[in-house]
Amino acid sequence: MSQEKPHWAELFTEVVTGGLCTGCAACIIVCPHDVLDYDDQNGNYKPFHLDVDGGREDCTHGEKGCTLCTRACPRFRNWEEEIDEKLFGRVRTDDEVFGQSLDIVLARATDPELATAGQDGGFVSALLTFALENDIIDAALVSAMDGANGEWRTKPAVVTNRAEVLATAGSRYTYSANTLAYPEAVEGGAERIALVGMGCQTSAPGAMQARKAGKVARRLGLTIGLLCSKTFDDAIFEELFEAKYGVARADIVKMNIKGVFQLWLKDGGFVEVPLKECHAYTREGCKACPDFAAEHADISTGGIGESNDWTLTIVRTEAGRELLSAMVAAGAVETRPGDEDPAALALLRRLAGVSRKRWPATAVAAPSLRST
Ligand SMILES: Cc1cc2nc3c(=O)[nH]c(=O)nc-3n(C[C@H](O)[C@H](O)[C@H](O)COP(=O)(O)OP(=O)(O)OC[C@H]3O[C@@H](n4cnc5c(N)ncnc54)[C@H](O)[C@@H]3O)c2cc1C
Ligand code: SF4
Ligand code: SF4
Repeated sequence: MSQEKPHWAELFTEVVTGGLCTGCAACIIVCPHDVLDYDDQNGNYKPFHLDVDGGREDCTHGEKGCTLCTRACPRFRNWEEEIDEKLFGRVRTDDEVFGQSLDIVLARATDPELATAGQDGGFVSALLTFALENDIIDAALVSAMDGANGEWRTKPAVVTNRAEVLATAGSRYTYSANTLAYPEAVEGGAERIALVGMGCQTSAPGAMQARKAGKVARRLGLTIGLLCSKTFDDAIFEELFEAKYGVARADIVKMNIKGVFQLWLKDGGFVEVPLKECHAYTREGCKACPDFAAEHADISTGGIGESNDWTLTIVRTEAGRELLSAMVAAGAVETRPGDEDPAALALLRRLAGVSRKRWPATAVAAPSLRST
C-alpha cells in the first residue's frame, strides 16, 4: 500500500467497507483497466474488484501507480473541500448549509408535455431537451424504467433526444447509478455529456475535475442534481408495497414522497404508505450521506415547493446560470423568484442540516459541521 498514491486498496478499506460508499459508481467508470464492477443485488449497490489483478481487496494496477478510482470518488478523504475549491474557488462557509449558490428560482417547463411528464415542474426534462436541441450536449445520463413485464424497476440510461427525455422523466425512489450509462454514451459518440443524479452522483464530476481524473472528467461537463434524503432498497416493493398493500411492481405508474410514500396505480387507484413503515428499507449507502441538496451540481432541483407544478431550482455555477438564462430567453422555461416560497427555502435549510449530521465523526470533518 502506498500513502502517496492511494488506489483501490485504500478506497476499499476507507470508503467501500468503511461505511462511506454511496454506490455512485464513479470509480468504476474511470477505471482504465476494467477491473471494477458493480453489485446491485440484495441491497448492496457497491463496487467490487474482480478476482483478477489483485483480488477483492487490492489491485496490481494500483500497486504500479494507477490512482484513478480514488481520484474519482466523491467520498474519498477531503472530497468536499477539494470539490468546493475546484467548482467555486473556495470552501463553503458553515452558514451555506445547502451548499454554494448564485440564484434560487422556481421553474417549470413551458412545453406542456414536458411539464406533465416531469415529477415537479418538468424543469430537468426541459433543460435536457434544450441542451440536446441547441448543441450544448450530445447526450445525458439519466434513469429509465426497465420495462421488463411492465414492472417498476429503474436502470441507468442514455438519452439523446426529446422523445427519450420524455420517456425517462419523473422520479423513481430506488437507486439508479446513472453514471453506469457513461460507456454507452461514449460508444454512441458523445463527447459532451450531462449527468443527472442525486448528490452522491453529481459530486463525481467535480471530484474527477479537482483531482484530474482525465477524459471522463472532461466529458461530464454538465451536472443536474436532484435533492435527496434517501433512496429505498428494491426489497420495499415485494416486502412492503405488495405484502402489506397488495400493490405489485407492475401496478405502479407514478410515485412521489410528500410526507407519505404516494403510489399511483395503472387502474386509477392511489395508495399512501406511511413513511415510518418505509424507513426499514433505507438503502445502506444513504445512511452516512451528508448531501441533501446535490451541492456540487451546476444546477440542483427539488420538489419541496408549495406547488407540485414548479421545480425548486438552485443555480450554483456560472455555467448553470448561463444555461438557465438561455432557456428563459428562448421561452423553454418560466421562472419565479425562489423567495416567493419562503417555506420551501426554510425546509431546504432544515433538510440539508439533517443530512449533514449523518456524516460520521470518524471521517474527515465536513465544513459545515466543524463548529457544531
Ligand atoms: C431518489 C430521489 C429522491 C429525491 N428526494 C427528494 C427530496 O427529498 N426532496 C425534494 O425536494 N426533491 C427530491 N427529489 C427530486 C424530485 O423528485 C425531482 O426529481 C426534482 O424536483 C426535479 O423535478 P423535475 O420535474 O424538474 O424533473 P423531471 O423533468 O421529472 O426529470 C427528473 C430526472 O430525474 C431522473 N431520475 C428519476 N429517478 C431517478 C433515480 N432514482 N436516480 C437517478 N435519476 C433519476 C430522470 O431520469 C429525469 O432525468 C428526489 C429525486 C430522486 C430521484
Ligand atoms: S462512493 Fe462511489 S466512487 Fe466512491 S467507492 Fe463508492 S461507488 Fe466508488
Ligand atoms: S441520500 Fe440520496 S444523495 Fe445521498 S447517497 Fe442516498 S441516494 Fe445518494
